[in-house]
Amino acid sequence: MSKLLVTGGAGFIGSHLVDKLVHDGHEVVIIDNLSTGKKEYINPRARFEQKDIRDYASIEPVFKGVEAVFHLAADARLQMSIDDPLTTHATNVTGTLNVLYAAHKAGVKKVVFASSCAVYGDIEKLPLKETMQCSPLSPYGLHKYMGEQYCRVFANLFCLPTVALRFFNVFGPRKTADGAYPMVIPIFLKQRAAGESMTIVGDGEQTRDYVHVRDVVAACVAAWQSAVGGGEIINIGNGRQISINDIARMLGGPTKTIPERKGEMRFIEASNAKAKRLLKWKPKVKFEDGLRELVGS
Ligand code: NAD
Repeated sequence: MSKLLVTGGAGFIGSHLVDKLVHDGHEVVIIDNLSTGKKEYINPRARFEQKDIRDYASIEPVFKGVEAVFHLAADARLQMSIDDPLTTHATNVTGTLNVLYAAHKAGVKKVVFASSCAVYGDIEKLPLKETMQCSPLSPYGLHKYMGEQYCRVFANLFCLPTVALRFFNVFGPRKTADGAYPMVIPIFLKQRAAGESMTIVGDGEQTRDYVHVRDVVAACVAAWQSAVGGGEIINIGNGRQISINDIARMLGGPTKTIPERKGEMRFIEASNAKAKRLLKWKPKVKFEDGLRELVGS
């Protein structure tokens, strides 16, 4: 049994991760300020510390005796990073620095950082590989890029084992239409349930690489348990493009078109060869099965 800390453990992905770690018999502590996370997602068998990662002094004591940290707390709303870059920078960049520094001070043995495919920017050559030059289109993507670089520097300078996982579009239960990352699937499900048309952004041909939250949790655990810890950056995606039109077709029902937003990538597909090689991880949930599960829930 290990003592593990999950920042953002009241959020969509973090709460699934906490459930898994608790289920596996570990002692889990959560840091979350509940800005987008929900109290009802918090596993009652975990210890909950309602704190803000921007406040170093308040979070530092929580790291005492912790073996590994999963750093998922972030303001993950891409549009918010454009509307309010100062506040989101404080959470996503300074907050990440605070977490890394507190982990280093406490002698933590591994930090797993939740990065994002938003670091890539609009790259025409697919699939996206970790060796490609990043050119983020939004402050959010840049924040995640800086977080990755901090992980690398802390591994090199302070021998703090770190690994950054670039999550692609994560979907699954607890992902709501109004939370972080307003995502097409929960939006479409909500619209269908209300008898409204599904809103297709632009021509609907833009694609994303959807990875199920259970697979993402498995990747986090694999990253913690692996020998990888030199600030490596690893894609966590399915390796398959799905367009907005594809999802509308799979769900079925009327659609209408709304204008495109700025700061978003057009086509996305992950190479997950590195995750397979270094973490012995591969996605198990097929998109159609994950979608069917959500429709039925
Ligand atoms: P989420 O918003 O559901 O979870 C983030 C959690 O962090 C929330 O519980 C929120 O309350 C907490 N938080 C925010 N600011 C905080 C602060 N200052 N102090 C303490 N806690 C704070 O988002 P999610 O989808 O679960 O994302 C989890 C992580 O994965 C994030 O780092 C996100 O950037 C990353 N990510 C998510 C996706 C995706 O598709 N959902 C894709 C790529 C990367």
